[in-house]
Amino acid sequence: MNPFDLREKVAIVTGGNGGIGLGIARGLAEAGASVVVAGRNREKTDAAVRGLNEVRSDAAIGLDVDVTDEAQVAEMVVRTRERFGRLDILVNNAGIGIRKRPEEYSLEEYRKVVDTNLTAVFVCCQAAYPELKRTGAGKIVNIGSMASLFGHTFALPYAASKGGVVQLTKSLAIAWAPDNIQANCILPGWIESDMTRAARSYIPDLFDRVLARTPAGRWGEPADLAGTAVFLASPASDFVTGVSIPVDGGYAVQMP
Ligand code: NDP
Repeated sequence: MNPFDLREKVAIVTGGNGGIGLGIARGLAEAGASVVVAGRNREKTDAAVRGLNEVRSDAAIGLDVDVTDEAQVAEMVVRTRERFGRLDILVNNAGIGIRKRPEEYSLEEYRKVVDTNLTAVFVCCQAAYPELKRTGAGKIVNIGSMASLFGHTFALPYAASKGGVVQLTKSLAIAWAPDNIQANCILPGWIESDMTRAARSYIPDLFDRVLARTPAGRWGEPADLAGTAVFLASPASDFVTGVSIPVDGGYAVQMP
């Protein structure tokens, strides 16, 4: 028996159409899972699904979903069930940031970040719960951040939301353990993506600062998250719940 085998399993990856989400979606598909890519940008979603279907034909479908819209999230679960008959794995990866000092955020901006990064994780988990419970072996993988551990002068709502994701995950892990649902977090370090490319355009020395602070001596790539995601989505992690695993090349354990 291969404890990392995801054949017959069905996963939803929010924001699975690019960056870290696509790296995870690819890892899950390569391990045998069918993957539902849920995102807002149809062009990105179509391209991601085409790529995943090269891993295995019919490995993936795409759905237009804004995770901040409760009705669209409910529909995402219904459509997954209709297409694949079940849901085993939910990866809550969709996320945004708005870069400002704390005193400069409007309440609307603050809410937009927290709604997307934290409240939507709750909404997706709640919507998925009946299906995860029904399979008898559900897996939730939430995506936190180094900002789940550290404060950030220019990303207060982002850090608050990502810290919240860690605590939300612990609560789900406890509450849904009797249903044999495991809920865990991945805390990515600095990973090449649209989000960090944007950050690098605001902060010219960011690339070098991250490099200097990361013991592995490199930035991460979306594919670096795949192994941990497959572990947390597979029977290999059946006795692991409520934890947050940094995947950061050692960034979080190095004294500055
Ligand atoms: P990207 O900007 O490439 O990806 C973000 C994804 O989230 C996109 O696919 C986007 O899809 C989706 N998304 C955003 N808002 C919504 C929404 N309302 N509804 C549905 N989908 C949405 O960045 P990353 O890949 O870097 O980020 C992925 C996750 O990883 C985020 O949660 C981020 O906070 C986290 N992270 C990233 C790190 C990094 O270094 N890159 C480090 C730590 C954490 P669409 O374009 O279709 O809207």
